[in-house]
Amino acid sequence: MQRLQAFKYELIPTGEQLRNMRRFAGSCRFVFNKALALQKENYGRGLKHLSYVELARELTAWRHSTEDPWIKDAPCSSQQHALKYLDQAYRRFFAKQAAYPKFKKKGARESFHYPNKAAIRLDQEHSRILLPKLGWVRYRNSRAVIGELRNATVSLTADKWFVSIQTARDVERPTPQSTSAVGIDVGIARFATMSDGTFLAPLHSLKRHQAKLRRAQHQLSRKTKFSRNWRKAKTRVQRIHVHIANARRDFLHKATTTISKNHAMVCIEDLKVGNMSRSSSGNATRPGRCVRAKSGLNKAILDQGWFEFRRQLEYKLAWNGGLLVAVSPANTSSTCPACSHVSTDNRKTQAEFSCVSCGHQDHADIVGALNVLARGHRVAACGEPVQSGHSTKQEPTEAIQADSIG
Ligand SMILES: [Zn+2]
Repeated sequence: MQRLQAFKYELIPTGEQLRNMRRFAGSCRFVFNKALALQKENYGRGLKHLSYVELARELTAWRHSTEDPWIKDAPCSSQQHALKYLDQAYRRFFAKQAAYPKFKKKGARESFHYPNKAAIRLDQEHSRILLPKLGWVRYRNSRAVIGELRNATVSLTADKWFVSIQTARDVERPTPQSTSAVGIDVGIARFATMSDGTFLAPLHSLKRHQAKLRRAQHQLSRKTKFSRNWRKAKTRVQRIHVHIANARRDFLHKATTTISKNHAMVCIEDLKVGNMSRSSSGNATRPGRCVRAKSGLNKAILDQGWFEFRRQLEYKLAWNGGLLVAVSPANTSSTCPACSHVSTDNRKTQAEFSCVSCGHQDHADIVGALNVLARGHRVAACGEPVQSGHSTKQEPTEAIQADSIG
């Protein structure tokens, strides 16, 4: 099977390369926004939606026009990729999988993509990469790139530029090293509780840095916008955000690597993290209930990165020949693992489970994990429907997207 993996490195650009990277990212954003505006205008006039090919034809005209002569300074393939990206966003919207595409704002996710592998050359020995219209750019070589180069993305995080190099390589279809199965209950008090009784302590990465972040944000708010000091303060805030994200990623990588190595089948609740972390504030006519408590919970959920946890588990298990099974979360915390009696009274407190029917007692999170495991076994064995519509099995070639290493 084919394994796709991304390797991410910090770039060490020259002054000219730095200016060009900013310009290329800006011009790709400009092309994306111009195409989006064109689609909207067409729609307003009752005209047909433009296909990617038609947009690419428009791009050629824009590159040759005298109106914005700087457009043609950036790599054409990167701008075409921005149009492809917009096209995909529209497809997702038409398939009701995503919201209507939005204009890209300056300063948010500055990046551009090199889709053509023939135009990129990687010189690992000298820690440099040849990128179209940028020339040889040096990078911090933290680890070797494995596999055949496919494409590259240049992006800005806080005040640093990175290159993410995507590769593909053939690997033997792995056989799982372990035969055991485990159920996982995720929570606020404990990040994850395993059905074998072990657990991962909560990750309070955001909490730990929150005071620092608040101070930095306060300082930023007192500066004159766009002044030199404002820029400095803004960089400080961004750096704290990056630091938090890195700490969270490290924690999740360690946890998911251990779990996917030790178990052949991992069962988790199919929680809709997107829904859970959405604001509960409601609207003007119907204000939400328990807004504060939920916003705290929402924050904690995001902080813990459950969605990322699941994503990593899924691809790492596939790499190891294992399987992730997502089961319906209904009643996993109120079903007795001994006698199957379902009652919300079974759960006495956040941590205590005591069955009102047979008297079985255990830690509530372990009970949850055991129920998830039992349900996972039923899903895997006799195909008990998974309510979410998520497939329990994934084709490893397409779905695997490795993580970047900074
Ligand atoms: Zn019972």
